[in-house]
Amino acid sequence: MMPRDLSAHEAYVPGRGSEEVARELGVEPDELTKLSSNENPHGPSPAAVAAVEDAAPDVNVYPKTSHTDLTERLASKWDVSSEQVWVSPGADGALDYLSRAFLDPDDRVLVPTPGFAYYSMSARYHHGDAAEYGVSKADDFAQTAAGVLDAYDGERIVYVTTPHNPTGSVMPREEIVELLESVEDRTLVVVDEAYGEYAEEPTAIELLAEYDNLAVTRTFSKAYGLAGLRIGYAVVPAAWGDAYARVNTPFAANELACRAALAALDDEEHVEESVETAAWAREYYRDELDARTWPSGGNFVLAEVGDGSAVAEAAQRRGVIVRDTSSFGLPECVRVSCGTREETKRAVEVLNDVVADVAAEGTRA
Ligand SMILES: *Cc1c(COP(=O)(O)O)cnc(C)c1O
Repeated sequence: MMPRDLSAHEAYVPGRGSEEVARELGVEPDELTKLSSNENPHGPSPAAVAAVEDAAPDVNVYPKTSHTDLTERLASKWDVSSEQVWVSPGADGALDYLSRAFLDPDDRVLVPTPGFAYYSMSARYHHGDAAEYGVSKADDFAQTAAGVLDAYDGERIVYVTTPHNPTGSVMPREEIVELLESVEDRTLVVVDEAYGEYAEEPTAIELLAEYDNLAVTRTFSKAYGLAGLRIGYAVVPAAWGDAYARVNTPFAANELACRAALAALDDEEHVEESVETAAWAREYYRDELDARTWPSGGNFVLAEVGDGSAVAEAAQRRGVIVRDTSSFGLPECVRVSCGTREETKRAVEVLNDVVADVAAEGTRA
């Protein structure tokens, strides 16, 4: 007995967790500064924590009302109809729902490289395949319609990540519009706004009033600090919003997650503080890191440090966990998440020491 041929499937490589690293180093997890997964360093909103506690005694019941309430709350936030909001287990779940709704066997998707691994993973799960367009360092990772269209060959789905993970670059509104205007009728453009709250550019959700070949994904994992609950959504055109009922996994967005998301949406202060700290931290990294960095619209900064995995490993030994970007195709870089002010300053101190050490060893070797 064997599963189907999974040789083209790559495993997702997550950022390293504090518990895991703490065990390895023989220290307590809270002695470590975890800046490897773009999580919210302020934690979740206290209102979301309270909502989880309040809902806990009722988890014997399937989540129904909470899902409806969250869908309606998001529809009113974005001024769309509730059919247009596809609530999902993380934004990753929404990417799967879009794959289910769009991909026939052997259909292709077009994804950025370097880029977020899950787009092509999801396509392969759904018997599709992926081609890539470059977001290149030579252009400072600029994202343009022309850059995407250069590689475009009628793929069924084209993915744009803005702000882009792991580089932080933003695709300007007019470039997204040009892309929407230029692709063939059968192509869906998915704009992944996992870091949308941190960016100054307005959301592409607004474009749904005019374009029916667009879907926008968003998450509560980053600015809302709910990564552990797995809750996100897609906003899709009214014309095919009803496909959700045919493709979603029943009750996949769980009761606690939906309740927490509702509470988090009402705690504007928490999001604002999170976004402000991130804006401060990314400028601090840009000014203070002894490495080349790029402007970022997200809650992280990409830094060119020479040997990314050696730097990440050495920083980890000193208690600062950053993301080695080899799995993104950038082995010369690390991605550093924005921490609290204290964490961010500590990260800069450690990284600057470590970058100098690793460079010196490289010269000696
Ligand atoms: C974090 C992230 C997501 C979604 O994460 P979920 O936790 O599944 O909501 C999607 N896209 C990108 C680019 C991300 O970095």
